[in-house]
Amino acid sequence: MAEKGTGTDAVEVPVLIVGGGGCGLAASVFCSDHGVGHLLVERHAGTSAIPKAHYHNQRTMEILRQHGLYEAVAEQAAPVESFAKVRWLTSLAGDRPLDGRMIHEMDGFGGGVLRERYAAAGPVLPARLPQSRLEPILRRHAERRNPGRVLFGRELAGLTDEGGRVVATVRDTATGATTEVTARYVIAADGGRTLGPALGVEMRGRPALRRITTVYFAADLSPWWREGAHMTHFLNPYDPGLFSNLFEMGPTWGKRCEEWVMHFHLPPDEAAGPDEDAIVSRIREVLGLPDLDPELLGVTSWTVQGLLADGYRRGRVLFAGDAAHRQPPTVGLGLNSGVQDAHNLAWKLAAVLSGRAPDGLLDSYEAERRPVGAHNIDWALSAAAHNQAILGAIGLGATTPPERRERMFAAYFDPSPLGAAERARAAEMFATARGGYQAHDLEIGFAYEDGAVGPDGVPPPAREPLRDVYRPTTRPGHRLPHAWLDHGGRRLSTHDLAGPGCGFALLTGPAGSPWCEAAAQVAEKFSIPISTARIGDGAEYADVDGRWAAVRQMSDEGAVLVRPDNHVAWRCTDGSEDPSGVLADALSRVLHHDHAPR
Ligand SMILES: Cc1cc2nc3c(=O)[nH]c(=O)nc-3n(C[C@H](O)[C@H](O)[C@H](O)COP(=O)(O)OP(=O)(O)OC[C@H]3O[C@@H](n4cnc5c(N)ncnc54)[C@H](O)[C@@H]3O)c2cc1C
Repeated sequence: MAEKGTGTDAVEVPVLIVGGGGCGLAASVFCSDHGVGHLLVERHAGTSAIPKAHYHNQRTMEILRQHGLYEAVAEQAAPVESFAKVRWLTSLAGDRPLDGRMIHEMDGFGGGVLRERYAAAGPVLPARLPQSRLEPILRRHAERRNPGRVLFGRELAGLTDEGGRVVATVRDTATGATTEVTARYVIAADGGRTLGPALGVEMRGRPALRRITTVYFAADLSPWWREGAHMTHFLNPYDPGLFSNLFEMGPTWGKRCEEWVMHFHLPPDEAAGPDEDAIVSRIREVLGLPDLDPELLGVTSWTVQGLLADGYRRGRVLFAGDAAHRQPPTVGLGLNSGVQDAHNLAWKLAAVLSGRAPDGLLDSYEAERRPVGAHNIDWALSAAAHNQAILGAIGLGATTPPERRERMFAAYFDPSPLGAAERARAAEMFATARGGYQAHDLEIGFAYEDGAVGPDGVPPPAREPLRDVYRPTTRPGHRLPHAWLDHGGRRLSTHDLAGPGCGFALLTGPAGSPWCEAAAQVAEKFSIPISTARIGDGAEYADVDGRWAAVRQMSDEGAVLVRPDNHVAWRCTDGSEDPSGVLADALSRVLHHDHAPR
């Protein structure tokens, strides 16, 4: 559909993206790459000044890589080696007997002992970069790919869904001038602030779990900082009210880190508005550094929620990111889920807007992403509760009465065999937190059971209940397993075969030529690009380390059809008498050609 602009007061675009946070900006980049014309409007003049999300899991980093954003992010981000640990300390320093002690540390988020497993599972590793540094990268790339159509300082002021199109009023927040924007679809990436309430979308679940005050500050902690931590929890032996978490925010990573974020779990009356002096003295108390002179860069108070939209679609409006789901930050799933929503949506919008698929394909967005959103919320809630339960069980949590507290900590650090037993018991309990800190299967193993997939009746692989072990599978709906390939001297991942530009991909065994010929016919029939790759001995793609053979779950004659978002659409574990008929049927089902037009 051609874009049409008629001056300053009326614009027609295929897609309107409302919100220029992490989700909306990612959606803009993905839409551009898929050739989806769009306009993005963001109410604020700039991107987030507060760090907020900072852990970008392996799936998100793969997606950023697919869209040419990996290098720009990795250049500034903390590599996995520099955030391999989750730590529990009493404080950083202090002269009391229990100050400056390490209660426990474990590997997490793809680092330490997990690194090898993560490295085998994907072409890239997770990374840490605060949202306040990520969003400018996304904005720059969004603007470059869609010049003049990524507009900050513009807010959506009204919207009417006319059935066949949406008419929106966009206001310039500086001048008050309004523009009428007509679009075929809207991506609501507004954090749930505008479109959901206006269209009657209900956010269901737990609206107010606890208040957290987040303090963003600059300080030199190099003399005391134990580097290599993703997050450091502080459990104060003398004052349970000082429970806090501290995170490096860069721009330098490690001991010389300049900026930090500390979360305070304050009682509601204090959380409402602690003054700057109170915040500074609290930072000093938590860290055990009475002379520290932190520079406050920002303070926000926010509510931890567990909420899921009762629908991800209302007519022509599709909800993504925090507009669709909000969860505790425990497993770092917030922005990650939002980027993954946008990724799921972009190729479907491209297929529908180009006339290659009916509107019904967009219904698969909710069918696929809403169950993932629901599960992520439940998981984050249970992980958060479990983390508190561990601290309670080892007697060092906030619920241990003040009169027993010091005694419990002293017993924990006691050098006697009894103290060693306390610590060994605690270590086993801390290990059960791996469902929160080592949730590899949750991060990359999620699958779509229903939607734009052709199930083959094979049950999903057995899962570790704590979701810490990812098991690769080509079962339809799952993320395509990664394996390194060699093609004419070029090293590439199986993930590089599908995507914007190359469209779907058909991966076959070395004896899969009939499928490759069928793919060419089916691609022509549906006007959809399908790239093909025969992988294995004597084929044009070499399976460099045998990993593809180990994970492909099909014979040399079989084939796997992969969607542009690198989820498996369909597979046939063997050869077929009628490869083009079978493949055409499968693609037709995936694209929802059998669904009546809306
Ligand atoms: C302290 C903290 C730590 C976190 N840590 C992590 C983490 O480690 N990993 C993780 O994945 N997530 C984390 N999160 C969650 C993450 O920050 C959010 O999930 C993420 O910001 C959601 O992105 P979004 O783009 O969907 O929404 P938002 O960031 O809320 O962006 C929505 C945008 O829409 C704009 N907007 C709203 N209404 C309109 C309108 N009418 N017109 C135009 N624009 C509009 C807003 O101005 C805003 O910029 C954390 C959150 C917090 C608070």
